[in-house]
Amino acid sequence: MAVNKDAYVKIKAELERKNVVLVAVSKTKPVEDIMELYQMGQRDFGENYVQELQEKQAALPADIRWHFIGHLQSNKVKYIAPFVYTIQGVDSIKLLKEINKQGVKLQRNIDCLLQVHIAQEETKFGFDETELTEAIVLAQSPGMHNIKLRGLMGMASFTEDMAVVRNEFAFLRKLFDNCNVNYAAAFDVLSMGMSGDYSVAVEEGSTMVRIGSLLFGARDYA
Ligand SMILES: *Cc1c(COP(=O)(O)O)cnc(C)c1O
Repeated sequence: MAVNKDAYVKIKAELERKNVVLVAVSKTKPVEDIMELYQMGQRDFGENYVQELQEKQAALPADIRWHFIGHLQSNKVKYIAPFVYTIQGVDSIKLLKEINKQGVKLQRNIDCLLQVHIAQEETKFGFDETELTEAIVLAQSPGMHNIKLRGLMGMASFTEDMAVVRNEFAFLRKLFDNCNVNYAAAFDVLSMGMSGDYSVAVEEGSTMVRIGSLLFGARDYA
């Protein structure tokens, strides 16, 4: 399926009015599709798989801001650390330490978002509230200067029930505000909302949405 340029123009305008950043999620999609949106001015793209991201980064313009939004294994941080713009799915202390270590090696500060588990499904990754606090305190400790925590990321439950989704987003927004008030976290990015629920996310205070299928069409994992 081709890139939906009309949807892009419409969504982009809507989000710009509300000061929300659009990350175009291009996982499984060819570089030609990414270039189509690039030529329309899009610079923030999201990818879930390390090898796929490496290949696309090498093939595409250097000013693309790559957001890693998948589950990242610690032993693979080194492959994306030199160029990644933000690692959004930081979901363990171990991963946080590894990102910092690679940042030290590269003399680079790497922007990170902590992923919070807000959905009902067990399968989704992310910190709970207690672990989140530990991660923030760790990131503020000496020796962790090469990561910069910018905020939080979350995925709502996979359900048609928008009241459930809204509640989860509202909860994440509250956590985000609490991080700033209680831990002086200086967070400025709250990444929540995808194709099916971004409007609700924006209503609940999202500052960044990650949209794939509405822009690039359905994904084929076959
Ligand atoms: C794939 C993915 C998206 C985009 O999903 P769509 O429903 O296609 O918009 C957003 N966030 C994460 C973490 C994803 O893995």
